Amino acid sequence: MIDYKKDKMYSTIFDKSNSKNNTLKDKENLIRLKESLPIYKSKSELLQAIYNNNVIIIVGETGSGKTTQIVQYLYEDGYHKNGIICCTQPRRVAAVSVAYRVSYEMNVDIGSLVGYTIRFEDNTSKETKIRYVTDGILLRETLNDEQLDKYSVIILDEAHERSINTDVLLGILKNICQNRNDLKLLVTSATIDSYKFSNFFGNAPIYFIQGRTHKVHIEYLRTACNDYIECAVQKAIEIHISDSNYDNNFGDILIFMTGQDDINATCYLLSERFYEVYSSYKDYNYNKQNTIKKINNIINDGGGGVKDDSVSNIRSEGATKNGAIKNGTTKNEGTTKNEGTTKNEGTAQNERHIVPFYVFPIYSQLSSEQQSKIFQKYDLRKIIVASNIAETSLTLDGIKYVIDSGYCKLKVYNQKIGMDVLQITPVSQANANQRSGRAGRTGPGICYRLYTENTFLCDLYKNNIPEIQRSNLSNVVLLLKSLHVKNIFEFDFIDPPSKESIISSLYNLWVLGAIDNQGELTAIGEKMVLFPLDPPLSKMVIYSEKLKCINEILIIVSMLSSSAIFMESKENTDAIESKKEKFTVPESDHLTLLNIYTQWKIHKYSNEWCKKNFIQFKSLNKAKEIYSQLYDIIKTLNIKNVSSSNNWDSIRKTICSGYFHNAARLKSFSQYTNLITHVSCFIHPNSSLYNIGYTPSYVIYQEIVFTTKEYMRNVTTVEPEWLCELAPLFFYMKAGV
Ligand code: ADP
Ligand code: MG
Repeated sequence: MIDYKKDKMYSTIFDKSNSKNNTLKDKENLIRLKESLPIYKSKSELLQAIYNNNVIIIVGETGSGKTTQIVQYLYEDGYHKNGIICCTQPRRVAAVSVAYRVSYEMNVDIGSLVGYTIRFEDNTSKETKIRYVTDGILLRETLNDEQLDKYSVIILDEAHERSINTDVLLGILKNICQNRNDLKLLVTSATIDSYKFSNFFGNAPIYFIQGRTHKVHIEYLRTACNDYIECAVQKAIEIHISDSNYDNNFGDILIFMTGQDDINATCYLLSERFYEVYSSYKDYNYNKQNTIKKINNIINDGGGGVKDDSVSNIRSEGATKNGAIKNGTTKNEGTTKNEGTTKNEGTAQNERHIVPFYVFPIYSQLSSEQQSKIFQKYDLRKIIVASNIAETSLTLDGIKYVIDSGYCKLKVYNQKIGMDVLQITPVSQANANQRSGRAGRTGPGICYRLYTENTFLCDLYKNNIPEIQRSNLSNVVLLLKSLHVKNIFEFDFIDPPSKESIISSLYNLWVLGAIDNQGELTAIGEKMVLFPLDPPLSKMVIYSEKLKCINEILIIVSMLSSSAIFMESKENTDAIESKKEKFTVPESDHLTLLNIYTQWKIHKYSNEWCKKNFIQFKSLNKAKEIYSQLYDIIKTLNIKNVSSSNNWDSIRKTICSGYFHNAARLKSFSQYTNLITHVSCFIHPNSSLYNIGYTPSYVIYQEIVFTTKEYMRNVTTVEPEWLCELAPLFFYMKAGV
């Protein structure tokens, strides 16, 4: 792992202390850059349109300047004098990234005039006039401020993404706009399919920003590929070898994968393949292990970790013969229809070398420091391997090649197991077109689609299915209930969810005791809604008062809400495993998390202790922050933070109070069956229980993940009598435990 503070490539944009552009040259460059954005030409016209209308739909290509510029135009025009200018983002990463960018452009510290708020992280102050938030945060704000009075302008950005929270906000804001004449609502979208938004707001005017896109040539496969990771890696290496030069003029490559696992696998394979190509030079004498290490460094540390000398070593020693380069390009012929990748052959044949490249993964779980690296300019080609976050939420300049796997990960409600699962799904045509568009931002580009043209035309949906129509609505229904929406079926959804899914969410909430038989919010439900957590987790927190284990449950919930606890390293797997074992509480993953945190606390929240135990200090620190935020909510409810001094039975029972609907009974050797849905499931190999081969008769779990089987994740052993006690109706009726 690299120390980002020491890393000289560390983004100045994201470093708090350096967020200002101090030199005159910086300022001049910035002004030139801002004025070159497509939206700049429309500035006064756009402000006029906003002045004339309360609701306006703004449509413009990704990169035209919607997210970063409009707030600044509004600020210059004085809108901040009547209230805060708010811009929502469906993704946390984007909210943070653009807030930093805008604070840099406005030459202010982040958290002062420009700030952001995402779940469990508030970087705003009294001074903040431009506020980036996730759509989930704004939605929760309507609980305390029903008319959202503190805002003068609300920009629902990336509305085309149709995230569940943005969709609900559209309905709520439509209502607010009828009451508040002083509020400006801007809905922005990157697709031209914006008439729907306009119709929803009574034919609100649509403002189109003239784009400046270059032609993108699209290549399809002739025949379908079996392994899109393998195929993408081959294509990327092929492009890299056939189109490299020393003029700092590399067109960067953007590869779209589905999510973290795919992305990491692609990054790893890229390094391996690169090494293979590299090692095909007979007379190239170098230390194999060292080289792999260097390239792995590039991959694991997102590029920034590579010191300059290693790069120049590879570069100078990597001067090679042309024959081998040709091998590299020709061996993959046939994977696509394209012959264009070899078109640069012959230019500077004698000087051509194989140079390394930087690989940058980008997905939402990455830290913002790591994410920031993708925006930097480097002296080598960047290969960015991204989830659909790079489709429209983040604008990357300098991409010449896009490789589209054709898949993305979507949250889909699975009726069979009664919960949301992340599922790998083919993209829609709209997604595919957004992806290819990324290649034409700064010049003409090429997009390689790793599927056939026929698949594109005949198999892909034209547009995405909005999240609200495919995922669990419990959280939203709970929120709407507390906003006094009596009849959820009559709420003004832009695309209503199915009746069945509303009924099933109402049912889930009823099971947890959040609503009563009449569908009214109960006292428990009223408290639950105050926590920014999924309903089962907030139920646990509330129930913990009764069993006197609030402190422990808050720690567990905070640990669950933080990021990965243990470090991941290919080199130290055994050492990490043995440390993990040291913390294992055999009967529960939740208690194992509690144990880790408690040990950390005993060791005075020490960073050294974390390092010694291969634990991510940042994740524990995050958990500590989350704990204190949840504790603040507990205080407002006048609940005393009493501790059971490690009465682990009470803690397990409290966990059971939130997750009894996910109870499973041991059926055979290692197979469990859900007591309600009767779906078979297995303990996840990462679970504490799995590691010691413990198979208790009854367990509850937090979620199911599909890989090779249906695996239960975050498992805790429970006693069957607790199930009957906590949900007598439920189990008596359904499973008769
Ligand atoms: P849109 O919202 O229309 O997609 P943005 O406002 O996000 O466009 O981006 C406009 C331009 O600002 C981009 O083309 C890019 O040049 C620049 N930009 C945006 N975010 C960053 C960043 N984090 N770092 C550097 N440049 C950025
Ligand atoms: Mg944007």
